[in-house]
Amino acid sequence: MRHGWQGVTLKLLGGKDFTFTVRSNEQVSEHLRRLRFGDGGMLGVTGVHPTMWVRLWFERAGRPHQRGYTLVDPDPETGTFAMEFTLHTGPAGDWARGARPGDTIHATVQGTAFAPPDPPPSRLLVVGDPASRPAINSLLESMPSTPARIWFETPDPARERGIPRHGAPDREVVHVPRRDGGAHLVRTVRSELPEHLGPASYVWIACDTVTTRTLAAFVRKELGVPRERLHALGYWRAT
Ligand SMILES: Cc1cc2nc3c(=O)[nH]c(=O)nc-3n(C[C@H](O)[C@H](O)[C@H](O)COP(=O)(O)OP(=O)(O)OC[C@H]3O[C@@H](n4cnc5c(N)ncnc54)[C@H](O)[C@@H]3O)c2cc1C
Repeated sequence: MRHGWQGVTLKLLGGKDFTFTVRSNEQVSEHLRRLRFGDGGMLGVTGVHPTMWVRLWFERAGRPHQRGYTLVDPDPETGTFAMEFTLHTGPAGDWARGARPGDTIHATVQGTAFAPPDPPPSRLLVVGDPASRPAINSLLESMPSTPARIWFETPDPARERGIPRHGAPDREVVHVPRRDGGAHLVRTVRSELPEHLGPASYVWIACDTVTTRTLAAFVRKELGVPRERLHALGYWRAT
């Protein structure tokens, strides 16, 4: 598949292309599929870091569409990893529903870099949702003894699996129902986050693009958190 102008731009930015092969496809729940892949040599070239993600290429109506997905349990020794697809009615979700062992998918690695906060944070303050759950898990696993508070937006709190607390004495998940296109999450975080913020906190935000942008501006401009203590990336576009 040709990757169009987006592919050309990513190449200019140093993007590396790989082809993954589906090993298995498990329906975890009505809304979630877990696929395991052979990495096409990627992990040996790129290594692994917390919250690592790649751009997968899907074709629809003869046009390429790229979507970000996070590596789950990457294993450089066996050259395998999994991905957890929250299912929607777009090219990625449709592909994940039908993928079978032996199917291949193109991927580009560009933009995933994540530098662990230095100095290590006294507390992680995380805002996310099902799309960023694999990245949140990875972030928490990379700092197993750091206290954390996670505001986790869910379309239906009863439906979602919790996210790990990983043994730290002070880790709390606050389930926030998705309401008003993300505005309820914004209100909740605006009112609750400041009391948990300390000078050595690290704030990590990954929700829909508008919510992420709004909360990142709040944290940086109104709360004065320095750039290097904040990571914010929109994971999906609400339509
Ligand atoms: C760095 C990064 C890592 C990511 N990692 C993961 C991951 O590991 N697992 C994962 O499931 N997603 C992940 N995402 C999000 C995923 O790329 C998007 O949800 C993507 O838009 C889904 O593509 P699609 O083709 O299925 O649907 P699209 O064609 O993009 O959208 C179809 C419809 O579904 C809606 N929609 C799309 N995504 C969501 C969503 N997350 N929640 C609610 N409605 C949605 C859209 O608004 C639209 O109406 C990641 C995104 C980024 C940027």
